[in-house]
Amino acid sequence: MTKPQHHAIVVIGAGICGATIANELLQRGQSVCIVDAASSAATACSSHAYAIAHPHIGRGSPRLLRLTRIAFLLAETRWGKAWNKHGIFQPTKKDKHFDRVEVTNYLKSLDLDQDIAVALDAQEAEKICGIKQSGVWLSRGASLNIFEASNALLQEHEDLTCLWNTRVAKLEQLNGQWFLLNQANEAILSADKVVVATAMDSKPLMSSIGIRLPLKPVRGQLSIFSIRKEDAWTQKLPRVGISGDGYCLPAQQLEDGSYRWMVGSSFDEGKDDLGSRDSSDAFNREQAKGLLDYSEGDSRSLIKAGDFVGVRCVAGDRLPIIGALNQRPGIFLATALGSRGVLWSALAAKLITAQVLGDDFALLARLGFAADLVSALAPTRFFAGALAAPAALASNSKAVLPSAPKAK
Ligand SMILES: Cc1cc2nc3c(=O)[nH]c(=O)nc-3n(C[C@H](O)[C@H](O)[C@H](O)COP(=O)(O)OP(=O)(O)OC[C@H]3O[C@@H](n4cnc5c(N)ncnc54)[C@H](O)[C@@H]3O)c2cc1C
Repeated sequence: MTKPQHHAIVVIGAGICGATIANELLQRGQSVCIVDAASSAATACSSHAYAIAHPHIGRGSPRLLRLTRIAFLLAETRWGKAWNKHGIFQPTKKDKHFDRVEVTNYLKSLDLDQDIAVALDAQEAEKICGIKQSGVWLSRGASLNIFEASNALLQEHEDLTCLWNTRVAKLEQLNGQWFLLNQANEAILSADKVVVATAMDSKPLMSSIGIRLPLKPVRGQLSIFSIRKEDAWTQKLPRVGISGDGYCLPAQQLEDGSYRWMVGSSFDEGKDDLGSRDSSDAFNREQAKGLLDYSEGDSRSLIKAGDFVGVRCVAGDRLPIIGALNQRPGIFLATALGSRGVLWSALAAKLITAQVLGDDFALLARLGFAADLVSALAPTRFFAGALAAPAALASNSKAVLPSAPKAK
């Protein structure tokens, strides 16, 4: 093997996830090399320009609810000017009775202050958000152009090396170092520590070092609709984001008086084709009616003006996979961000950096990372016996993860 260039830390994948981690490492004074198969950053799922972010308040495991709260606070701080804070309204499910006291107590139990989430009846919601439905108003909810955010994070920096058009096919460990190999088995780089942030492609990369990850693709299409200025829909279009069965951004009025409105997203489990589908637009038209509670709306008035199609990477238990791969010291994983790339990448940046640099666990705890939450994200959770290590979670010194049994 000829001696390739060596870096202390290499990040593979320059989507929002890898870019955010690389940026956090730079901010912590580290030198980083980021490698991507494409010719620039954010060309895959992170080419998305209309991603929303808010803490999860619906049904879900208690850990998911706690994690999205922490991730939301981290994301809000991280994205700064790019954070488009228009607020997001989450309507009450159609089959559910709205009880303000009950919802308020529920939000309190999630540790969500009134300035993050507040229960509104239909009259109040109409006044505050222009939507005549009961629900929860997330005034700090926002959207982010993740394509622009990823590129901004990887701007020139003296400690940053970007290696484009470089597909890593395999990883190999030799004499305590990690080697990144291409398809022809040639070493591209060597590194002490490697962060793998290649979404679905983390699966073959991990399998090259004997680790099986339960990842699957979920294709999604977001539709961009145009609505004529005299159309009845214009009386219904929202001035805030809405998140429920699907989501939408605030509608924008253009100079000619017409509106432009993003509504998404379809959800095709197990599919990874990137072609645009009429059936997905039809699905989004129905979601649009549901979000606005406007069943009588004429679908034909939502004229297709564009779309975004991407493939989400999802883990078996729907949580992201973020953390050190204890079975292979020096390898760190940040993948399976699913439909929450904005939140999970902000969280991954803090957690992976802390683990790469061996921070004291107290630092992470200050950000709200209780040990059980760190374990819930850890790659080791998929391997036999991984959760049988509660004692390790009581550590208040190093970020201790569950013991590392052999992968199945
Ligand atoms: C329709 C749709 C709607 C969505 N809506 C939202 C939303 O509202 N809010 C939200 O937060 N999220 C949303 N998401 C999810 C979000 O877009 C993703 O979670 C996020 O973009 C994933 O980022 P990533 O960096 O993990 O992966 P990617 O962006 O896919 O990046 C992976 C990178 O790795 C590179 N790579 C892959 N394999 C290799 C290899 N072998 N060697 C070198 N490089 C490699 C690729 O070129 C790519 O640049 C949505 C997704 C879809 C599809």
